[in-house]
Amino acid sequence: MKSITFLAIFMAISSYYTALSTTIPWYMKDVPHMNHKWYKANCTTIRYRQYARTFIKQAYYLTVTQKSTDIALEKIDAELEVISDKFVNKQNRAIQKIKEKYDLDDDHFGKHLEAINMINKLNIFMLKQDTVDPRRHDENLPQAVKEITCTLLKKNGINPLNVKLLALDEKEIDLGLQGQAILAMNTTKENPFSHTIKLTRNYVNEYHALSNCAHEVEHLLQQHMMTDLFVTEYLQKHRNISSENLETCTAYKKLKKSQEQQAEIFAALRDPDVAYAMTKERRDYEYPGYLYEKHYYYLTTIHMLWTLRSYIASVQTHGTFKATKEHLNTLMERLIS
Ligand SMILES: [Zn+2]
Repeated sequence: MKSITFLAIFMAISSYYTALSTTIPWYMKDVPHMNHKWYKANCTTIRYRQYARTFIKQAYYLTVTQKSTDIALEKIDAELEVISDKFVNKQNRAIQKIKEKYDLDDDHFGKHLEAINMINKLNIFMLKQDTVDPRRHDENLPQAVKEITCTLLKKNGINPLNVKLLALDEKEIDLGLQGQAILAMNTTKENPFSHTIKLTRNYVNEYHALSNCAHEVEHLLQQHMMTDLFVTEYLQKHRNISSENLETCTAYKKLKKSQEQQAEIFAALRDPDVAYAMTKERRDYEYPGYLYEKHYYYLTTIHMLWTLRSYIASVQTHGTFKATKEHLNTLMERLIS
């Protein structure tokens, strides 16, 4: 009897710490990944396990909130930061692997990469300025999609007139493309790189539209296409590696994967509504070759943290738990829908 009690206490304590930990929990390890047939079922399992985790986290944060709402909010922000760092490091590690695989000179490659990062910052700076070359958006693009994308761009300080919004053509839609953030060299001196976001016209629902637009806007904000272009051109020039050959390189695939992850994780970290839309979208659809169950786990974790954050912020505004009960109910409904 004693040993059963001990085991129960041990299980309770370990579940408690697992739920609060920022590392990936044990219950994700038995979910088979990258299995198209079981994707939806696996996501349902993850979802229910995440609900259980939410209640433990909620109980923990309510105790902290009773002492200080500021500390509770800081702790949640720190958790979100840990996720952000994780995905920044993933891209850096992938670049490091490419460097090792092709035995690239530390100094030479490093200096060029630094220069590209500077150009990326400059590009974003330019995209924030008043337009010198206004882009006319594609008339075939649904008004709602245009509005969502322009709002997301504006939220991040980007002037939508500096980005061309295009509708994907039928061929691209048939290939299964949902969107693309592309960069082309422009002939004008004032605006050497022309930024274009291509979006699909066939949206299933508002979550689908918001998550897709946010995904492409994030690619633009991270200037992923510049990093990709740099790596491809550098290896072509210094190692004579064609882009076709590069497509089969594991380290390069990791780089592409890390960029797809960033496009969703960073967008979800910026905006709770985007986090919600992405969890809704990814619960049913994986991104073949790139995003699977583990990715869904991270999106639901971000959504859960945003929900808890919103509740604590509401307690801070209203001063009592009682006044925010209704707010909590709405949030919980959203969390489990
Ligand atoms: Zn993408």
